[in-house]
Amino acid sequence: MIPLHEARAHVLERVEVLPARRFDLAEALGLVLAEPVVSSEPIPGFANTAMDGYALRADDTRGAPVELDVVGTIGAGDEGSVHVGAGQAARIMTGAPIPDGADAVVKVELTRRLDGSEDRVLVEATVKPGNHVRRPGEDVAAGEQVLEPGTVVTPGRVGLMAAVGAYEVMAHHRPRVGVLSTGDELADTAGPLRRGQIRDTNRRTLLGLVAEAGFEGVDLGIACDDPAEIERLFHTGTARCDAVLSSGGVSMGDFDYVKVVLDRIGDMRWMQIAIKPAKPFAFGIVDGVPVFGLPGNPVSSMVSFELLAKPGLRAMAGHGPDDLGPVLVRAVSDGDLAHRSDGKTHYVRVAARRDDRGVLRVRRSGGQGSHQLAAMTRADALAVVPDGSPAGEGDPVDVILL
Ligand code: AMP
Ligand code: MG
Repeated sequence: MIPLHEARAHVLERVEVLPARRFDLAEALGLVLAEPVVSSEPIPGFANTAMDGYALRADDTRGAPVELDVVGTIGAGDEGSVHVGAGQAARIMTGAPIPDGADAVVKVELTRRLDGSEDRVLVEATVKPGNHVRRPGEDVAAGEQVLEPGTVVTPGRVGLMAAVGAYEVMAHHRPRVGVLSTGDELADTAGPLRRGQIRDTNRRTLLGLVAEAGFEGVDLGIACDDPAEIERLFHTGTARCDAVLSSGGVSMGDFDYVKVVLDRIGDMRWMQIAIKPAKPFAFGIVDGVPVFGLPGNPVSSMVSFELLAKPGLRAMAGHGPDDLGPVLVRAVSDGDLAHRSDGKTHYVRVAARRDDRGVLRVRRSGGQGSHQLAAMTRADALAVVPDGSPAGEGDPVDVILL
């Protein structure tokens, strides 16, 4: 058995970041930028008001309350061509340009219209120059780099790129990930199963995990335990996709032809990893495309995806080495998470809750068998319990939130 970090390092050494191309901003969410985004303009582009109120000269408010002449109204989107002189004010709405001559805004709550008069206002507060004025370039200076290469495009960053007029961005494309299942026992039908058959769950789960991770899933179907069929589906996958995930056929069974076929058509490494579940794992390159051979048991294939395939795929998508996951969160064990020493790190399915002091507490969520998918779906997290660690009641434990 090899430690998990060694298997992970092997994957990360061999995968390559996908090429970049130009994307419309509307398609960029979740992608990783390949080039910096630079603003050619200052943001804000012009001095404007942060409040609804009156634009005026701060000097005029010194003896407040003071009465001023209202010389116009400026809304957001107006050019604001009003001029404000001494003893004057302009009614102004949030976002509207500060008119010439004015240097401050008094919010409407600190003013009063003088009985019915449209053109006189009583200002009840003394303000300093710049009060409630958003200065040009206060958020972004002209020529400033607002996003660096390697940045993930989040909703806020989509907005920021729109703000600076970057409607096209250079980004690494989203990995297209083919998913195939292997096994003579697998059926994909709602109808009755014959004895010995089970329904294919891994392909659905893995396509879900792929989509949730922000990649594009490609359903490659089921290969029965037949070398020619397995080979055909892998080649279909490598022709259409940036990476292929298969499940099953990587352990020690007589009909595990995936191993035979992949060894013939690819450059594979077969690993036994010191973790439970998900001990068997294969990784290699077929037709120039990374192939992840995940174990067949449903819980194992999910755990293997989280710990090995997803970090590799994230690296391909352009995420930096510190941003590949999984993310560990500190929790406290609420019960006994101990296991017999077997040389493996156990990923224990746990239910998580916050106690009244805000501490995250975890306890076993039920069956821990690697075939028990229902129990897995009742878990909120995987507790990482190193070999032989007692992890008893009240002990700190790292968890991966699901
Ligand atoms: P294998 O590694 O192919 O021997 O599979 C190990 C276990 O996982 C067996 O019990 C298989 O029936 C089961 N298994 C393999 N592939 C799938 C799948 N796609 N969906 C559900 N169970 C599977
Ligand atoms: Mg099998």
